[in-house]
Amino acid sequence: MSDVRNVIIIGSGPAGYTAALYTARASLKPLVFEGAVTAGGALMNTTEVENFPGFREGIMGPDLMDNMRAQAERFGAELIPDDVVAVDLTDEIKTVTDSAGTVHRAKAVIVTTGSQHRKLGLPREDDLSGRGVSWCATCDGFFFKDQDIAVIGGGDTAMEEATFLSRFAKSVTVVHRRDTLRASKAMQERAFADPKISFVWDSEVAELHGESKLAGLTLRNRTTGETSELPVTGLFIAIGHDPRTELFKGQLDLDEEGYLKVDAPSTRTNLSGVFAAGDVVDHTYRQAITAAGTGCAAALDAERFLASLS
Ligand code: FAD
Repeated sequence: MSDVRNVIIIGSGPAGYTAALYTARASLKPLVFEGAVTAGGALMNTTEVENFPGFREGIMGPDLMDNMRAQAERFGAELIPDDVVAVDLTDEIKTVTDSAGTVHRAKAVIVTTGSQHRKLGLPREDDLSGRGVSWCATCDGFFFKDQDIAVIGGGDTAMEEATFLSRFAKSVTVVHRRDTLRASKAMQERAFADPKISFVWDSEVAELHGESKLAGLTLRNRTTGETSELPVTGLFIAIGHDPRTELFKGQLDLDEEGYLKVDAPSTRTNLSGVFAAGDVVDHTYRQAITAAGTGCAAALDAERFLASLS
């Protein structure tokens, strides 16, 4: 049986590495499970990040995450590029099982497993990510000044992205698979009133074009089967996110969309000694800086919790 650690962190995006940095600097010797395939989190899949404070020329997503990782390691965080496959968080001593079946024990656990944006499932989608294809208008809208852009989706997020993007873009075409929007009335009205936004109904993206950058889309009408070309250089996919909370079901409280519930503004979950931060909690802001901010808060909450035990 392994020693009982002070704290185990599950997840390695901006939230996980920030929690690791803070708990390491507090001499808590955190053990961090980074994930087997996606160590570093969502920013490993992007190019330029221009809105993380402190990098005035911007920084490549993977470089930013390498820096965060190295900074946490420098202060003694122990980093393991493996997935956690099971947890038992209900008792005073929590257990976390890795993919080899080894059980690790800790007094506190910080969950920072992030969320996965839903993809269209098209062949060129991953290759063109960060090269015209995006899941975040706040992050990437600025790169599409005076360009023709498409937004996929019909919910609140899609309408919010479309109206935000219309500030920069030459035109925004919303492509929706149905003939009515799911978005709230107010969001719909804002989008309908925007002269730069137009709608293509009952349609889905059949193909993405472009070699090193997105050059256009083929759309397919779901009713008639007819295809048409949409010559856009930006594509924002806003069809939802899935928080990575499968492991915690039945132990940690989830909201109706599957995100972990915390006692905000703290990062405390419903279980004593278990904290959560970043996009696995947040369906509103979803930014690297907000994830890092709540990762810091989780570390401080865990630190205070551990101090209260002694
Ligand atoms: P994530 O970064 O998603 O990290 C979660 C980590 O947990 C992953 O490494 C995953 O492997 C790991 N994990 C999950 N389950 C397990 C498990 N069972 N065991 C071990 N590890 C596990 N934000 C900005 O501020 N600026 C930008 O320019 C920007 N660009 C973006 C571009 C793209 C393409 C994407 C997808 C997002 C972008 N974002 C940007 C958003 C930003 O990346 C996220 O808000 C941020 O990464 C969330 O951080 P997080 O730590 O909560 O989760």
